[in-house]
Amino acid sequence: MIDLHVHSLCSDGDFSPSDVVKKAKQENISVLSLTDHDSISGIFEANEIATTLGMKFISGVELEASTDISRSRYIHILGYNFSRYDLLEEYLKNLKNERISLIKQYINLLNELGYYSTFDEVSALTPGEHLTVYHIPKLLSEKGFFDFRTAKRLFLNPDSKYYIPRRFYNEDFIINLILNSGGIPVLAHPCRLRQKGNELDKYVGSLCLKGLKGIEVYYSLHSEKEVKFYKSLAEKYHLLMTAGSDWHSPNDNIQMGLSIPLENDLVSHFL
Ligand SMILES: [Zn+2]
Ligand SMILES: [Zn+2]
Repeated sequence: MIDLHVHSLCSDGDFSPSDVVKKAKQENISVLSLTDHDSISGIFEANEIATTLGMKFISGVELEASTDISRSRYIHILGYNFSRYDLLEEYLKNLKNERISLIKQYINLLNELGYYSTFDEVSALTPGEHLTVYHIPKLLSEKGFFDFRTAKRLFLNPDSKYYIPRRFYNEDFIINLILNSGGIPVLAHPCRLRQKGNELDKYVGSLCLKGLKGIEVYYSLHSEKEVKFYKSLAEKYHLLMTAGSDWHSPNDNIQMGLSIPLENDLVSHFL
């Protein structure tokens, strides 16, 4: 069993990095990567426990890359097996400061508009460390000011007058950040992309020109038909095929760990 895509409290998961690894051990997973959103703060602890438990641990992260800034669209790119961490640490520290500053700007705006809210109320919405601007509509819906969708449209839609522009990092930047850190950039959960069929084929081709090295062919929500198609893309573009569940919590209804063909080939790539 293998799982190269799980989350911990260091982003939006429910378990500490150590508990994620212990759970993976119980699930008979022999090769694991912790891929928190915009955070690598859990991978050192996870690596230590995994090694003690006799598992192979691969360093990882899941980064957001914008694809269409005018419409706030983005994709997720997984990064694996880094040889240096300074560039990532610097980027992730800045990103976190930018996210917090944006949330504070929204809080000021909300208070000006009469929807009284505090930063602490936003922080209290997540047990983890991954505060994002999406917690603003979440707070507004929990406080009963708006339903989530309306709040999202009002405050996070770039066409709205209440939208506060944020800084975006595009695919080139994110792929290069991973490559420059000695890592392997992999397109996460292609099933969630807007593009399908030929359009997806072309899009993956364009990402390969930017340095993409892998695609998450095996994913907890992929149908057999989807796996077959993503596998054909991996073959066409000579991409590494990876496998991940995207497990966040025991309440997820997602099984941690995947049993896949070519498991040894995939893992040997990281050794
Ligand atoms: Zn994702
Ligand atoms: Zn994920």
